[in-house]
Amino acid sequence: MHYPHLLSPLRAGHLTLRNRVVMGSMHTGLEDRASDYGKLAEYFRVRARGGVGLIITGGIAPNRSGWVKPFAGKLSRRGEVARHRLVADAVHGEGGAACMQILHTGRYGYHPLLVAPSAIRAPINRFKPRALSESGIRSQIADFAACAVLAQDAGYDGVEVMGSEGYLINQFLSVRTNQRDDDWGGSLENRARFALEILRAVRQRTGPNFLLVFRLSGLDLVEHGITIEDTCALAPQLAAAGANMLNTGIGWHEARVPTIAGVVPRAAFSFVTRRIKAVSPVPVIASNRINMPAVAEAVLANGDADAVSMARPLLADPDWVNKAAAGRARNINTCIACNQACLDKVFRNEKATCLVNPLAARETELRLTAVEPRAARRIAVVGAGPAGMACAVALAQRGHAVTLYEREAEVGGQFRYAREVPGKEEFFETLRYFSAQIADLGVQLRLRTSATADLLAAEKFSAVVLATGVRARQPAIPGIEHPRVITYPQLLARERQAGASVAVVGAGGIGFDVATFLTGEAQPRPPLPDSPQATPEAASLLPAAHDEFWREWGVDTSIRQPGGLSSPQQPAQGRKVFLLQRKAGRLGAGLGATTGWIHRRSLLQRGVVMRGGVSYERIDDAGLHITSEAGAECLAVDSIVICAGQESVTDLQPQLAARTIECHLIGGAQLATELDAERAIRHGTELAARL
Ligand code: NAP
Ligand code: SF4
Repeated sequence: MHYPHLLSPLRAGHLTLRNRVVMGSMHTGLEDRASDYGKLAEYFRVRARGGVGLIITGGIAPNRSGWVKPFAGKLSRRGEVARHRLVADAVHGEGGAACMQILHTGRYGYHPLLVAPSAIRAPINRFKPRALSESGIRSQIADFAACAVLAQDAGYDGVEVMGSEGYLINQFLSVRTNQRDDDWGGSLENRARFALEILRAVRQRTGPNFLLVFRLSGLDLVEHGITIEDTCALAPQLAAAGANMLNTGIGWHEARVPTIAGVVPRAAFSFVTRRIKAVSPVPVIASNRINMPAVAEAVLANGDADAVSMARPLLADPDWVNKAAAGRARNINTCIACNQACLDKVFRNEKATCLVNPLAARETELRLTAVEPRAARRIAVVGAGPAGMACAVALAQRGHAVTLYEREAEVGGQFRYAREVPGKEEFFETLRYFSAQIADLGVQLRLRTSATADLLAAEKFSAVVLATGVRARQPAIPGIEHPRVITYPQLLARERQAGASVAVVGAGGIGFDVATFLTGEAQPRPPLPDSPQATPEAASLLPAAHDEFWREWGVDTSIRQPGGLSSPQQPAQGRKVFLLQRKAGRLGAGLGATTGWIHRRSLLQRGVVMRGGVSYERIDDAGLHITSEAGAECLAVDSIVICAGQESVTDLQPQLAARTIECHLIGGAQLATELDAERAIRHGTELAARL
């Protein structure tokens, strides 16, 4: 049996879960409108069909003051039950179990009705909360219980009460946000009263046959946060008050330590769950950066947890569990922790989907239906970057005969560069996934082959998809041909090496990546478990990489300090790096909302000098000459790496048009100015769904 710990059943409350995979709560944006619940039900249905043991929905508020934003998902009236029944029924129809998460945002709510234990504004919110009165607290507790009863009526197997991540219940638990001097503040006993009374009320109203999960913050990662001593004192009390399972929360939303981004080592926080499990009378769930079966299995086999929670990995691949059970981990479409199409979209008030799986949360809109055998076409895809690979695989999945041409010796396109960047090792996994799919779906892969118009015409394809991608832009700076100039593809493909001091021209996503590569190169990371080049021994939890991470971000892994914070230590500085752009203002403003601050802070920690508002005058033996507000100067650097965006490669298009061959442009070849892997993979998949 593959992954014996992960795939064994788990008794939790009145339920026996079919395995230990919990789909953790994650907001998709489909929870907010009644008319989207059909889509939400389908989204969960396919994940239950994919084998997930327990599904926990995105957060649903028990009343208006608990809203994430105005008119966000709420369950406080009977009329709101029917939409939830769609979700519960869909999951049950596939043999799964479902809990609804009750989330009261407290001071994090993005609306003016928000309430909290004390009237202290969150640093990430412009709205200030109103402090709850004693009767206000009682009415909040009653609303949690009423919400749970409605969830039970909707057919859910239970609820998860959100007590972590800095939301209302967590705000009561912490002296950071709870400065009350009545029965609800002060001692731990008083601060915990709100959480415990909610659990007791929910249990009392729903009876014994209703799963009650409590998400407990094990590591707040904020100043004046809770210590492990208090968390461990709390865990048995939560169970005694009615919780059947404890889920582990890591980091408040206002924390300045990454908790789910790609820079976080896999399963880094399972040590927190281990501490809670040691004192918990009920099963405990580990969370954060668990994305492949070997990692999940190791967490359970180590005794760190009884179950693992994953949200984004199940967006990326709804069949994750079934593939693990069948020993097909190489076919898992792995979450690369980029946040680009899921959390960053939610932050922009858009619906979440997934960069590597554009079908996620769009199951009713984007379908890859099989074609009748006689309707199958012979299609050529030119270019095996993200757009081309996604298109080829989706076409083959539908039953078309696909030939994929790639000029280079391996697939990947721009992804081959991304995977070289420290913190982006997960990009290996996407290449492994597509390579496995290409092989298993019978795509004819022609590496080291330039697909000319003559070749494509001679093969008589019924359609050609041009995914020829981009070439790096060479800006018109005098001296650009100087030997000390390196393009980012040359650097990241390790064809050329940079010297001890470097100027990076261009501070978009790739400029930041290159600066990270230049300053982090000295700290190579071990291969990832389940990655193509991983050895069996590498399927450990990479403790060495963890230590480096704790030091750089200032995490006290003993959690004796409040919030588990310690002083960050600057990583060793190898190179002197200048990161430059012509625009005035802060660098990295266009990076993702949930990850940009990490990239910026990390580079500043490594001593990278960021300069906006510069003009590039010339490059010569002295270095890079620039002018800025400060006047003219020469950056006397050994190397200048050009990261000035890209231009589309579309040379074949007119040649195919001249031969009247049906031709479709996708990805960077179609629009280089917004070169973007999410758009590339989505375009490739959407085209494949239409052809
Ligand atoms: P980009 O984001 O468009 O940035 C290009 C940079 O080059 C800008 O800083 C621009 O700033 C500069 N530039 C443009 N034309 C120039 C010229 N003629 N001379 C000198 N400088 C010039 O492109 P990218 O960095 O190549 O990234 C491509 C895409 O990859 C992005 O859109 C992003 O979606 C994706 N990506 C994202 C991440 C991430 O979010 N972490 C990482 C990697 C890639 P000025 O014009 O102000 O000088
Ligand atoms: Fe994971 Fe990125 Fe997909 Fe989000 S968008 S689920 S982080 S791969």
